[in-house]
Amino acid sequence: MAMTASNPQTTSLWDIGAEENSHGRDALTGDTSCDVLIVGAGYTGLWTAYYLTELAPHLRIVVAEAEHVGFGASGRNGGWLSHLLPGNRNVFARGPRGPEGLVAFQRAMVEAVDHVLDVSSTRGLEIDAHRGGNLVVAPNEAGLQRLQARHAADLRAGLTDEEVRLLTAGEVRERVDVVAAVGGLYAAPCARIHPGKLVRQLARLVEARGVRLYEGTRVDRVEPRLAHTASAQISTEHILLCTEGFSGPLLGPRAVVPIRSSMIATQPLSAEEWSRIGWANAECLSDTSHTFIYAQRTADGRIALGGRGKPYEFASGIDGRHACHPDTQQALLDRLSLYFPDVHFEADYAWSGVLGVSRDWCASVRHDPRTGIGASVGYAGHGVAAANLAARTLVDLVLARDTDLVRLPLVDHRPPRWEPEPLRWAGIHAMYRLFRTADGREERRGATSTSLIARFAGRLAGLAD
Ligand SMILES: Cc1cc2nc3c(=O)[nH]c(=O)nc-3n(C[C@H](O)[C@H](O)[C@H](O)COP(=O)(O)OP(=O)(O)OC[C@H]3O[C@@H](n4cnc5c(N)ncnc54)[C@H](O)[C@@H]3O)c2cc1C
Repeated sequence: MAMTASNPQTTSLWDIGAEENSHGRDALTGDTSCDVLIVGAGYTGLWTAYYLTELAPHLRIVVAEAEHVGFGASGRNGGWLSHLLPGNRNVFARGPRGPEGLVAFQRAMVEAVDHVLDVSSTRGLEIDAHRGGNLVVAPNEAGLQRLQARHAADLRAGLTDEEVRLLTAGEVRERVDVVAAVGGLYAAPCARIHPGKLVRQLARLVEARGVRLYEGTRVDRVEPRLAHTASAQISTEHILLCTEGFSGPLLGPRAVVPIRSSMIATQPLSAEEWSRIGWANAECLSDTSHTFIYAQRTADGRIALGGRGKPYEFASGIDGRHACHPDTQQALLDRLSLYFPDVHFEADYAWSGVLGVSRDWCASVRHDPRTGIGASVGYAGHGVAAANLAARTLVDLVLARDTDLVRLPLVDHRPPRWEPEPLRWAGIHAMYRLFRTADGREERRGATSTSLIARFAGRLAGLAD
C-alpha cells in the first residue's frame, strides 16, 4: 500500500492542543539571588526542582530556561518511560563497584519508572500513562540472535525472568501483528506516556511549590556561585546544569554532542485498522535494526515513530527549527509499511529534537561541593525515566545525603572527550552510514548473524567493547 509523507505539520505532536500549553512565562531581567539555580526546564531540571522542594522546602530555587518549558528533548521524545539504561552496560560494570554497581543501577532504573508513575498519580499529573511494557521485534535471524544475547545480558544486569522474556514469532504477532517477525523480546517495566503533558505539568507543579521559573532566559556563563545571562547575574550556592544536548556552550563542545532524533506521528487510525495491527496493550515498540527506531501507540490512536535520520551537524550545530528531513519522514513511513502492509499511513506531524551523547554513550551525574556546580547529562536517548533517577541523585549530592543513589556508577562517571572537528563529524556520519548499510544487508539477505559492518561501527562509536 502506498505511503505518503503528505504535508505534515512541523511541530511536535506533544505540543498540540494541550490546555496547559502556554509558553508565556517572564524572562529574568534583573540581578537576583537564590540557593539553587537550575539551568534548563526539561525533565532533569524540573524533577530536580521537584525533589528539592520535597526534601528541602526552605531552599530558594530558580529555574532558568533559554526557550520555553519542554523546548528540548523532554517536549519532543518518543514517550517511552523505560527501564533501559542510559549508557553502555559494559562501561558501568567496569566502574568502581564492578558488576554489582551495574545491577544496582539497573534496579534503580526499574524503580525510576515506578517513581514517575507514582508521582504522576499522587500529584494528579495526567500524562496518558499506560504500562504496556517494551516489545523489541526481530525481523530476521541476526536480530533474534542479538535479542537472545540481550536477554542474557538483561538477566546478568539484574532484571528478572518475570520482567524480561523472549517471545516466539507467534507470541509477537499475538501482541502486534508485525509481518516478518521471527521472534521478540518483551520487557514489562516500561510505560508509554505523553511527553509534553509530563514536562508542562511538572513545571506547573514546581511553580505551585514556589520555584521561580523564567523562560527566554539563557545562561551564557557560569562560575562558582555566579551565573550570567545577557541581562542579569544570579548569585547562588549551587548551579545545576540540566541542559543535555544543548550543553556544549557550558560544558565544552567535546563533552556532550547533540544527536538529532526525528519523529513522525501518523493520522489517527480507525478501529478497523487497529484491529488489523493489534497492539491492544500499547507496548513501546522497536526492532533490532542498528539504526534504532522506537514507536508508541498514542492515547489518541496514532502511531508516533522515531529514528535517527540526519543525526549530526558539523561542529555540534543545532537546527533551531527542529525539522524532520523529508527523507527521514519517508524512511519512517516506509518502515511502517514494511511492518503493517495492510494499512495506509500518512504523517500528520513530523519534528525532531536533540539528545545528549557523551563519547562512551554513558550518562553522568556530578556535583562539586567546592564550586557548587553540578550537571546531569548524556542520557543518549534513554532519558525519560533516567532523568528522574538522575534528578534524585543530583539532589542527594547537593544536599550531601549519604544514599544508595550517590553510589551508582553514573555518579562522577567521566566519559572520554569527543574528537575535535572535523574528526567528530566524519566519525559520527561514518558510524550511522555503516549502521544503515548493515541494516540493509541484514534485511536483504535474511542474515543469520550480525553483519561485520555493524560490529565495526559499534566499535567505532564506542557502543561495543
Ligand atoms: C526525538 C527524541 C525521542 C526520544 N525518545 C525517548 C524515549 O522514548 N524514551 C527515553 O527514555 N528518552 C527519549 N529521548 C531522550 C529524552 O527525551 C531526553 O533524554 C530527556 O528528555 C532529557 O531531558 P533533559 O531535561 O535532560 O533535557 P532537555 O529536555 O533537552 O532540556 C534541556 C533544556 O535546557 C534548555 N537550555 C539549554 N541550554 C540552556 C542555557 N544555556 N540556559 C538556559 N536553558 C538552557 C533547553 O532549552 C532545554 O529546554 C528522546 C529524545 C529525542 C530528541
